[in-house]
Amino acid sequence: MTNRVDHIRSSINEMEGTIKSLQEDCEHEFSITEPHGDLEESKVQDVYLGLVSGFNRPGKNFYITCTKCSIKRRHTYTHTCPRCFEQLVQDKTMSLRDRYWKDFNSYYSSRVYRCPNMDFAVVNDEWDQ
Ligand SMILES: [Zn+2]
Ligand SMILES: [Zn+2]
Repeated sequence: MTNRVDHIRSSINEMEGTIKSLQEDCEHEFSITEPHGDLEESKVQDVYLGLVSGFNRPGKNFYITCTKCSIKRRHTYTHTCPRCFEQLVQDKTMSLRDRYWKDFNSYYSSRVYRCPNMDFAVVNDEWDQ
């Protein structure tokens, strides 16, 4: 015979299973839950500052939540557009760092990653020696 706690635990497990299968079957509709205003603008319009390799800073994340099933996903600005969640596309060529950044650093070049759907891009430092 099961005690009350065991009984409650097993109903929690059951409910979690229900949530999981609802989330698996969901046709997600994501909205941004944390604004992307923490990205600094570069010197070029619609291009935001991404990875600063010189300082070994990790890419900044943003979180999106499905409005239908509440599932949360984490994305990185350097890979995913925060407005339409499309994968960013890497420019073939790099350009001089000071085209985008205010400070000078000769060891790095800049490579831009663009959203294929809209005017949103992130520029990352890339090693160039
Ligand atoms: Zn969903
Ligand atoms: Zn986009």
